[in-house]
Amino acid sequence: MNNTNKINLVYTIIAVFSIMLLHEIWTQQQVIQPIPYSQLETLLEQGKIAQLTIHERYISGELNTPDEHGKKIVVANRVEPRLAEQLSRFQVPFTQVHESKFLITLLSWVVPALVFLGIWMLIIRKFVEKQGGMGGGFMNIGKSKAKIYVEHETGVTFDDVAGVDESKAELEEIINFLKAPKDYGKLGARMPKGILLVGPPGTGKTLMARAVAGEASVPFFSISGSEFVEMFVGVGAARVRDLFEQARKSAPAIIFIDELDALGRSRSAPGLSGNDEREQTLNQLLVELDGFDPSGGVVLLAATNRPEILDQALLRAGRFDRQVLVDRPDKLGRIAILQIHLQKIEQGEDVDPAQVADLTTGFSGADLANLVNEAALLATRAKAEQVTMADFTQAIERIVAGLEKKNRLLNPREREIVAYHEVGHALTALALPGTDPVHKISIIPRGIGALGYTLQRPTEDRFLMTREELKRKIAVLLGGRAAEKLIFNHLSTGAADDLQRVTDIARNMVTRYGMDETIGHVVHEEPPPTFLNQPGMPPATANYSNTTAEQIDRAVRTILDDTFASTLKILEENQDILERCARALLTKETLMEEELQELTKGLRRRSD
Ligand code: ADP
Ligand code: MG
Ligand code: ZN
Repeated sequence: MNNTNKINLVYTIIAVFSIMLLHEIWTQQQVIQPIPYSQLETLLEQGKIAQLTIHERYISGELNTPDEHGKKIVVANRVEPRLAEQLSRFQVPFTQVHESKFLITLLSWVVPALVFLGIWMLIIRKFVEKQGGMGGGFMNIGKSKAKIYVEHETGVTFDDVAGVDESKAELEEIINFLKAPKDYGKLGARMPKGILLVGPPGTGKTLMARAVAGEASVPFFSISGSEFVEMFVGVGAARVRDLFEQARKSAPAIIFIDELDALGRSRSAPGLSGNDEREQTLNQLLVELDGFDPSGGVVLLAATNRPEILDQALLRAGRFDRQVLVDRPDKLGRIAILQIHLQKIEQGEDVDPAQVADLTTGFSGADLANLVNEAALLATRAKAEQVTMADFTQAIERIVAGLEKKNRLLNPREREIVAYHEVGHALTALALPGTDPVHKISIIPRGIGALGYTLQRPTEDRFLMTREELKRKIAVLLGGRAAEKLIFNHLSTGAADDLQRVTDIARNMVTRYGMDETIGHVVHEEPPPTFLNQPGMPPATANYSNTTAEQIDRAVRTILDDTFASTLKILEENQDILERCARALLTKETLMEEELQELTKGLRRRSD
């Protein structure tokens, strides 16, 4: 119910009451002016009355002949017979007044009802407020809270965001579109409907969304996914509808749904009992996305740090069809972010952003902002005039101690291992023919688990893969472990994820693709369901003998062992380059394709 409806309700109540009041007055006016009871008695005695009708409260009589006003009916209020008898003796006109009880009766019903209604509404309102933070009360259920979060001018620009230049470049287009939505339609191009910002917490996703609004100077409608999830079924859906409606009214505008995962969690995810409210809300969002025409100048942005749990329907083309990765900053990025936040404090001359950046590998933008604040707090506590480098080192130590517990920061020895491991992957990929080019290697921890990563850029979509190609894929995945073995002569847990993947590939080669001579072209495993692939489904039971099972295990083992040996050999041959690259990676933290090409000149490649 919105404001106008609320006003209407008030008007209706007032109208009903006035009608009741008017009716009361009207009926009293309508009644023929009563004559005193004593007069009626007199008329009776005089024989002027032809007929009497006795009502509960009054008596009406019909006159034989109309009186001087032409009236034929007279009415007198009834008086109790005993009282009338007594009073007749005094020869004075008398009558009785019957007060109308109508209003009183009415009020005695309505007032308590209103009081109860009031109390009830008060309770519900409190309740809703508790539920949703800024609820506008019971009457406002369904009214988008987004209204409250409209910012007509976010005041944030791209200058406030640093270290995520790639993501900024991708959003540049959206800004141009918002500035001139009409121009964009000319060539028939269509804006992506939804853009999903994906990245670890604290890397500036929310900040970026606001900066886009600020750069394009359009209103910013923001709401957090968790706010859609409501007590009452249907409320969240109403909110979604309302949010889009409001944004459309003030187009060009940006709608930003933060923490999309709270709302868009996969509907078929196992272990989650059905949640009607969330599903309805999600469905409504899908409907809005479908009916939503970006040429109207409304751009939908959303952010999440858990894209893997999002419902597939949200991610398909025509919905959130563009994803922008907002990753943890590298060293240069950290310097840039620090410079932004250092402007806000009184910094001493010895504070060197580069030096601070060196000490803060793996920090996100939010961590860095927090660091600057911590340092300033330390300086304040010491009653210093300026924040010095010593404050920064102390603050880093405090924060790092906290972060290490969360396994995000590596000690120097671990960093070195991770660097060699990642370069191992990259070099194997570069040395083998027909593998995807390496796009980027990084030793900035990403997400939970991955300490570093190597990104390969597929040059084309592949639907078929040969045995050799699969083997090369395994080789690249084993490259990390091989490099660790070669340089440190140890095996570490860092390769656990790689091993999982190579085992899967090798097993599939043997049991599903018939690629092993000892087993032959026999399929021993059902293909996994490709549609609605649900994790946690029990595997199909094996329908082969124990001997075959042994053969399969042995064949998988042979593939992996052989590949590991040849990978180790590749890296041995290129040990000088491996070390050169690892050292570069340790200082720069990320290496892009071109840098890597420069560093790997003279690499001894394999031709098979
Ligand atoms: P996210 O939404 O990705 O979790 P936020 O956008 O809420 O992170 O970031 C929190 C705060 O951290 C921001 O308000 C800002 O002060 C700081 N911050 C994060 N990333 C950056 C960045 N890339 N540049 C500058 N400041 C940043
Ligand atoms: Mg956020
Ligand atoms: Zn690895």
